[in-house]
Order: sequence, then C-alpha cells, then structure tokens
Amino acid sequence: MAMRKKISILGSTGSVGVNTLEVISSALDQFEVHGLSCGTNVSLLEKQIEKFHPKVVSVGTKELAHSLQQKFSRLEILWGEEGLESLAKEASCDLVVSSLVGARGIKPTLAAIQAKKNVALANKEVLVSAGAIIMSEVRKQGVCLLPIDSEHSALFQVFESHNKSALEKVILTASGGPFLHRSKETFLGITPQEALKHPRWEMGKRITIDSATLMNKGFEIIEACWLFDLLPSQIEVVIHPESIVHSLIGYRDGNMLACLSVPDMKAPIGYALSYPKRMSTEVVRLSLSKVKELTFLEPDFEKFPLLSLSCEVAKKGAVYPALMNAADEICVEAFLNGQISFLQISQIVEETLSSYTESFPISLEGILEADSWARKKVREFI
Ligand code: MG
Repeated sequence: MAMRKKISILGSTGSVGVNTLEVISSALDQFEVHGLSCGTNVSLLEKQIEKFHPKVVSVGTKELAHSLQQKFSRLEILWGEEGLESLAKEASCDLVVSSLVGARGIKPTLAAIQAKKNVALANKEVLVSAGAIIMSEVRKQGVCLLPIDSEHSALFQVFESHNKSALEKVILTASGGPFLHRSKETFLGITPQEALKHPRWEMGKRITIDSATLMNKGFEIIEACWLFDLLPSQIEVVIHPESIVHSLIGYRDGNMLACLSVPDMKAPIGYALSYPKRMSTEVVRLSLSKVKELTFLEPDFEKFPLLSLSCEVAKKGAVYPALMNAADEICVEAFLNGQISFLQISQIVEETLSSYTESFPISLEGILEADSWARKKVREFI
C-alpha cells in the first residue's frame, strides 16, 4: 500500500470534522487519522477514537483528559489550548484540518503553519481576524492553505487551471439564508429556532446564525481577499438559493468559470484532503435536469446590514475584521441564549465597531487584544 496521508482534525466532533471523517472512512487506502480534538463532546470523540485509532487526541479540559485516559490507557491525550497547539504541530502529521469555530482557532492554526503543515481551513474566522498574520506565515513557511469553505473551494479549483492575472471579478454566491423572503418588519420576532433552520446546509450553530444575518457572507468576502489576494472591490455577492453554483470567476475577456455540485461539504473537503490530486467521493452527483432551474438575485443590503458593514470593514482592514468577528461571536451566543433579539445582533456589532477608538497594532497580540476588547464592549451593551 502506498503511503497514506496522515490527517489531524482540530474540532473533529463539529459538522466539518464529522464530514471530514466520513470522507476519510470512504478512502482508508489513502488517508489515516493521526490526531483528533474536541471541546466537550467526548462521547462522540470516543466513538471516533474506536473507529479511526488516532495516535493522539486533545480535549477541552484536564478533567476530561483524565477520564478519557481511563478508557484509552495507551492513547496520548492532551488538553486545553496548549494541547490543541501541540496537536497542530505533531511532527508525523501531513495535513491539519482546521475546523474549530471562531477566533479560538487562530493560535492552533498558526502553530500548524509554523510547523510547516499544509492546512485545510474551514475555520474562516481565523482569516477574518488574523488574515495578515496567517498569510504572511503561509508564504514564509511555503505551505498550502486549502479552503474548505464551499465558495472558496470553488474559486480555488477554478484558479488552479486558469491563472489570476486576467481576472476581472469574483462572484461569491450566497444561499440567502432562512429569511431571504421574510419581510424586514417581522425580523424583530425571529426566534433562535427559526434562525437555526438553514434551508440548504446542515452546519454548526454559529455559522447557521451567521448565514441568517448574512454575516457569514461578509466574512467570506474578507476570507476571499486573503486567500486569493483580492481587493474587496473585486468581489460581488449574488444570492443563489439553490446553493449549487458555489462561486464564479469572471475574466477580462468576458468569459466566466464556475464550480458546481450539490450542497454537500464532502465535495470541498474531498478536494482539500486529496489536493493536488482528485479522489473519488460518494457525493450525490448533480443532475441539472432534475434541478431544472437555478435562480440568482441581488442581495438586500438594507435587510441584512451586516453584509454592507463587512464590505466597509474589509476596506478598512487593520483590526476591524477581528473586532467584527469577536462582536458577532458574542452577539450570536447572546441571541441563542435569548438575551438579545435577532435585530440586535447587527445593531450591537455596528455600535461596537463605531465605539472603537483604540489603536491595537496588526500583530498576533494586537489582534487578540482587539478581540477581547470587542467581547468586553459587547457584554457591556448587552
Ligand atoms: Mg461558505
């Protein structure tokens, strides 16, 4: 058997982590699991350990690590923030899948890059908050940063065979979320249950709420700027409720290229895992004659103010994207806990940004300080 690619997954019990393991289990001749990690969902992690036999795992706390060690006496078990960073740096791993949620993914993702690992990135907040630091480290270490986000995987695949020099613009598609056709007047009454029902994608809670406010699409603009070295003005957003065309690139000769598949994360995950090759996956094949119609609409910036705000933030740069991400992270939590309304998510994120008068530098420390500043400010507002 040829050498198998050794994969570690940061956040293996989340939605992307679970999908990644499904892709791996369909191609065990090509991949083996080196490391897994979770926060507190140890019961799922135990099942993953039994099935995939990783060499090392990391869990949220020391207590969880101790009780897990009783069951798996020979397994190396790490814990906490440091555990995640060591897991990310493990010498014998070939590819780190970064699928944590939010800004806490920054340090372990950076650790993986510094250890010269190729990284498959699902945790877009890492690039939103710390894009400058991450991308300069990617270049310095000469590693690949492979996008798992479906839109960015689409762009990456199209760019692969057609160089960027003739690019005119990039079109990011957006499903529009559950409230695409709901009138703004009724937004005040939106409940967490309604916001958690995404029409196309089955995902974690944070990203599902971010998709309902279109904050997610705003983050993806910033993510695309970093990944493909684009200006915000080169990126356009179009609403595409079927989520089949994952994004498009327009070239200066008027030709456009797109990447299509059914909405299933296993398609972009498969590409990131097997890159630069292509693997076989069990993703359901797209039948255009069954789909019949694909629709595209302009986004409603008034109804979804976080989308327009993120365009401004993308242009401002510096630590503004980190502030926006941190503020949104706390607001989403507060909305899910019933502390604030759906409309207040965008209001509080906006207020937080406009009350920023500090001048944190664009360094890892500066970004982490900006992140905590924004979290504190949001908690004051709430
Ligand atoms: Mg996406």
